Amino acid sequence: MKDEPRRVEVALGERRYLIVIGRGLLDDRELLRDCVSADEVMAVSNETVGPLYLERLESAFAARRFASACLPDGEHEKRLESMLPVFDTMLVNGLSRDCQVIALGGGVIGDLAGFVAATYQRGVDFVQVPTTLLAMVDSSVGGKTGVNHPRGKNMIGAFHQPRAVIADLAVLDTLPDRELRAGMAEVIKYALLGDRDFLDWLEAHIDAAMARDPAAMAFIIERCCRNKAAIVAADERESGERALLNLGHTFGHAIEGARGYGDWLHGEAIAAGMCMAARMSARLGWISAAQRDRAITLVERAGLPIRAPDDIGPARFREFMARDKKNRNGELRLVLLRNLGDATVTADYDPRALEATLEAVGH
Ligand code: NAD
Ligand code: MG
Repeated sequence: MKDEPRRVEVALGERRYLIVIGRGLLDDRELLRDCVSADEVMAVSNETVGPLYLERLESAFAARRFASACLPDGEHEKRLESMLPVFDTMLVNGLSRDCQVIALGGGVIGDLAGFVAATYQRGVDFVQVPTTLLAMVDSSVGGKTGVNHPRGKNMIGAFHQPRAVIADLAVLDTLPDRELRAGMAEVIKYALLGDRDFLDWLEAHIDAAMARDPAAMAFIIERCCRNKAAIVAADERESGERALLNLGHTFGHAIEGARGYGDWLHGEAIAAGMCMAARMSARLGWISAAQRDRAITLVERAGLPIRAPDDIGPARFREFMARDKKNRNGELRLVLLRNLGDATVTADYDPRALEATLEAVGH
């Protein structure tokens, strides 16, 4: 028997939308046509994902005006220049302000296609069809869209909420293991920052999840989407609570920056970053050594790095951490653990705990 899709609402008043999660959704034409209501459709994908799944959209929308663009693969393509051929295709095909954009891909395509939708003719609707675990649990939900600038990641963008998110679990079958693990870092993040019950569940089911057990994956994606939806509904523009989603990210971004983006995957850097946040929280006495080790063990069991590369010294860490968007008045704000499943954003900590945590990298 086919399982009914799971549905999670993102409660944003008139802009509320549904995240639909299930296996085989891309073969469900009725669902696709319900979620994408426009007569004119522009699908954006990349050269890896497009050949695998674009045809499903093409056939579902055969009766409508349908255009598509497949960009080269890679984070490097998440830049303004890559948007131009997408706009060209839309204009050449005569797509009007009533068209809808579909983002078919991981976070790179979701962020870029979302920003295309935010800006084409001053804004058109879009639907996210995330194809990585990371995109399903994180980037496709919440309305942050944008591209990178040579001087910084995600420096150009807009808040633009999708009309729907369609997460077809079957597409994860082709996702490389390393990308699955990287997505699992963000999954663990939700548990550590605010969902203690989910943390218990993950500890019991992490092996099933890493083996891509369908029931485990469905549960994980729904649970993470519920967590993200609640945070986004409470703080759409990140004036408060949404910053908790940066657990592990201040340390992690420093690892990515110091390494040169692309060497470590984002999720790998965030995994090591969360372990650093746990170690620092333990140094502060906010969590016990046993709790710290619980967090680190879970990260390790997901096949993720638990230590930053040992050639990044404290000075280099500080250089990159100083650029963090959360900082106010020169104070370094960090997401730290007051307990497992209870994170806080604060600049109110003993700086010696940070120093010791940075010093300990490489030892
Ligand atoms: P990605 O989009 O680069 O995808 C990772 C790799 O997997 C790519 O090579 C892609 O082609 C391939 N791939 C995707 N789906 C596949 C599938 N089903 N089968 C086979 N291969 C597949 O990376 P990502 O990790 O999904 O996203 C990272 C991006 O997301 C970053 O740019 C990051 O800034 C952004 N992000 C945005 C938000 C947000 O709130 N908007 C949140 C987190 C991350
Ligand atoms: Mg992240």
